[in-house]
Amino acid sequence: MLTLDQVKSKSAGWLGNLHPVILAGASALIQRSYAKGIPIVITQGMRTIAEQNALYAQGRTKPGNIVTNARGGTSYHNYGLAIDFALLLPDGKNVSWDITRDGNKDTIADWQQVAQEAKRLGFAWGGDWTSFKDYSHLEMTFGLTTEQLRAGRQPTVQQVKDALAVINGTAPGADQAVVVTLNGVQITSGMLENGTTYAPVRAVAEALGASVTYDAASRTVKLVRE
Ligand SMILES: [Zn+2]
Repeated sequence: MLTLDQVKSKSAGWLGNLHPVILAGASALIQRSYAKGIPIVITQGMRTIAEQNALYAQGRTKPGNIVTNARGGTSYHNYGLAIDFALLLPDGKNVSWDITRDGNKDTIADWQQVAQEAKRLGFAWGGDWTSFKDYSHLEMTFGLTTEQLRAGRQPTVQQVKDALAVINGTAPGADQAVVVTLNGVQITSGMLENGTTYAPVRAVAEALGASVTYDAASRTVKLVRE
């Protein structure tokens, strides 16, 4: 079992020169993924425009597979606003790019769990892109285009504050968030309000072996356990 410090140290080389919000987001993502039994490693961080051009040439004017659609200056990596991740295998050395791997054995692909957690932290995920899916890629754009960033625009002080509040869990509602576990494995998340926990009934029921149907006419959620 890898310790959190061992997992963190694997990413240290890529965390330099990131925007402070991205750095905070990356650190939180490593930590929260670890808490779910998913060690991850940051495999790319800040990339200079020259490095980006070299990467763009790969598969076009240089050998290899195409790995990016972004020319130098047109990637959020070039402004320290993006990171790439992969799964870290239990040996603590090798990485996995298998987006179906279920290393923590909770029947949900680890990669999806990391992506969901990243989105909760405020990242946009390259796996949601429609044209060129980039499953490793996470970015925060703050509504700025890469042209604006190249011209020197920066996220505003308020945007930085708001983003850090989300990452640090102080966003509205964050204090009510709870996780729901079954025999120690997370099955869903929910909200605790005035002593009552609200959680998606399907996730809870199915985890307990019941099936769920909804009758719209009587507005009834029906749980059936054979
Ligand atoms: Zn990327």
